[in-house]
Amino acid sequence: MIGAMQQQLDFIAYIQRMLVEGDFSATYKFALLHAIADVCVEQPLLSEQSELVIELSTLADKLITLYWHHAMPFSSKHTGESALLKQNAGSQSKVISVLFECQQNNIRNFRQLKLSPFYKPTFYAAMATLKTGPLWRLQILAKQEECFLYPHTNSTQFITLNAGIASCFRRFYDLVVYLAKNAWLQKIQSIKHNQALIGPQSQLQEFLFGVDRTALTKAKPVLVELQSNICFYCQKPMKNDVEVDHFIPFARYANDLGHNFVAAHRTCNNNKRDFLAAQQHRERWQNQNLAVNSHIISNELSAYFHCDADKSLAVSNWAYQVAESSSAKLWLGKNSFEEAKPKAEVFKFSKVANKSEQTNLAAEPKANFKTIINALKLRYFPNIKIACGHFKTGDSSDVEYLDAPLGAGKLDPNVHFLARASGNSMNGGKHPILDGDLLLLELITSDRAGSLRGQIVAIERDDISGDGQYLLRKVNKLPNGQYELIAQNPDYEVMIADESMRTFARFKQVVAE
Ligand SMILES: [Zn+2]
Repeated sequence: MIGAMQQQLDFIAYIQRMLVEGDFSATYKFALLHAIADVCVEQPLLSEQSELVIELSTLADKLITLYWHHAMPFSSKHTGESALLKQNAGSQSKVISVLFECQQNNIRNFRQLKLSPFYKPTFYAAMATLKTGPLWRLQILAKQEECFLYPHTNSTQFITLNAGIASCFRRFYDLVVYLAKNAWLQKIQSIKHNQALIGPQSQLQEFLFGVDRTALTKAKPVLVELQSNICFYCQKPMKNDVEVDHFIPFARYANDLGHNFVAAHRTCNNNKRDFLAAQQHRERWQNQNLAVNSHIISNELSAYFHCDADKSLAVSNWAYQVAESSSAKLWLGKNSFEEAKPKAEVFKFSKVANKSEQTNLAAEPKANFKTIINALKLRYFPNIKIACGHFKTGDSSDVEYLDAPLGAGKLDPNVHFLARASGNSMNGGKHPILDGDLLLLELITSDRAGSLRGQIVAIERDDISGDGQYLLRKVNKLPNGQYELIAQNPDYEVMIADESMRTFARFKQVVAE
């Protein structure tokens, strides 16, 4: 646990050093850092300590996207002149030159480029730039090779982020991207050739990293039609005051994904600013853009934007996870907010026995935690075995305290606790749970509301003697209203929940020991 926290501190220190000490004359290292950070939030991560393989082709495409706007002539309000900004002190960067050529041939965005004969040479130029440039030199600090992020394998196919690094990028995405952009901006300003051209900094920042307003106009009619001319947020009719809003704010994740747009009143959009929207909006967005209209959006907008519903979902899950871990404010409506907190819903398998177990757990005196100054401790119940097989009897009378796992989001000692898995019914699927694994669980209470469908949940049942029995299963609601309890290991049969069972805790993760 301490190891993970130390790694996060080392990560921040390393990024800072890299920006200062990195042996580099062009701006490619900033682009590469930005690109790696983007890739880390664009897909779900298996666990906190996962390594992450990133294809070089993915990074090359990212490089092209990041430099796209930089390859347009910068029109200086300062001098009235219009010219390409330089990205290094010597001759113009190769990537900028090839992208400029594409734009001279009327290619307006990455999607058009990808379908054109110009893509191949552009892609090869970006690949060559990566390999000879920042990829194996990013981590040379003050002339010393320090491979903190990924080993220098000189592979021509991929890099592998070291264990825990992808999780650091997810945790500190905003900071990394902010630092990379600022260093990038300063670098461009420091190049003598550019100085005459550049006026006020805000103009340059908007040019290099701003929203593509022209492209947004393409999304507007599509969204207005999908939403039947109703504002996404306040649900009232729109007139001539429609704007396209980035559902996950552009300030949080500066890439245009086709499924991330909604149409809203200008006033609603302006009031939302850079806040994440409240849970109710998030559910409506998932339903509108990722479920019901996913294909329409891909068909209509992929000519202008990258459209990938899975990626949009992964980015939104990441953004809300970060918000939850910092109890951020979510925008509900005009000047009204709610606090970000994890979702859970208490659902009842009809008649619920009034069992005292949950009350006992929740009412554990808080005084126990007052003596703990530095590390958050969670209760560990050695006698509760969460059965991954058949129901196991246990009781919560015996309590120990263990360090809370790091990086598991915001943990509350009154809600989160630890217990061991027992049995092999969940040993299957993408994330197997093994016999003896230490599990982080979240007590399900009425104020931690949300859907449990598809989630792994500990289910409690009273045995004949009145002791609690606990079973871990994936929950699925059937069309007839019943719930089925599914094991990840196909050797175990699906059970139908009955009146003697109730949801007890939501499974969060296996804790690394
Ligand atoms: Zn509105």
